[in-house]
Amino acid sequence: MSEHPHTNSHANEDVTVLIDEARIAERVSELALELERELGGLDGDVTLVPVMTGSMLFVADLIRQLRIPIRIEPVTVQSYPGTATHSRGARLQTPVPEVLRDKHVLIVDDILDSGGTLSVLRRLVGAVGPKSVRACVLLSKDVPRSHEVECEHSGFDIPDEFVVGYGLDYDGLHRNLPYIGVLSGVSE
Ligand code: 5GP
Ligand code: MG
Repeated sequence: MSEHPHTNSHANEDVTVLIDEARIAERVSELALELERELGGLDGDVTLVPVMTGSMLFVADLIRQLRIPIRIEPVTVQSYPGTATHSRGARLQTPVPEVLRDKHVLIVDDILDSGGTLSVLRRLVGAVGPKSVRACVLLSKDVPRSHEVECEHSGFDIPDEFVVGYGLDYDGLHRNLPYIGVLSGVSE
């Protein structure tokens, strides 16, 4: 693992590259193909529900490679307020859009950790009456899930470390790093 020159850490923080840009790009392309195969044959278009803000880079790269008709209806969920590095419980900041009724829905999130965010979202989206619900995450932490939840598509399994970059933040910073890195030097 090496130090990347593009860093924007606070004084005591260090970011060590875990997944570099090239590997992210390669895996996002594979996921796009996987999703095309799965969603391309459905009756009707697919509505992506990106979970803001962490998934914005992932979803932006992913949709440019999806050659199927899609719509986008973002929702905002916060589970790590400020400097927290452990989930404080998923809280939806926006109502689930009613337009998801009778749609094929793909929830897109940056990372699956405890499963709290995805299980809350799957339940709330399901309550609106969609035709189908699937989920896709870029990262999946190798931890026991405190919330049992289905996730049909996942990019990378990663160890139980707090990661930043490629959309993921710590206290609002580091989202603009083009790679996924492990943040050290922050208190829990
Ligand atoms: P869960 O609800 O599954 O515990 O966690 C999912 C959400 O927590 C993700 O959408 C993400 O916002 C946040 N999260 C979980 N692990 C990490 C991490 O290692 N780094 C960052 N920046 N956010 C995380
Ligand atoms: Mg999130």
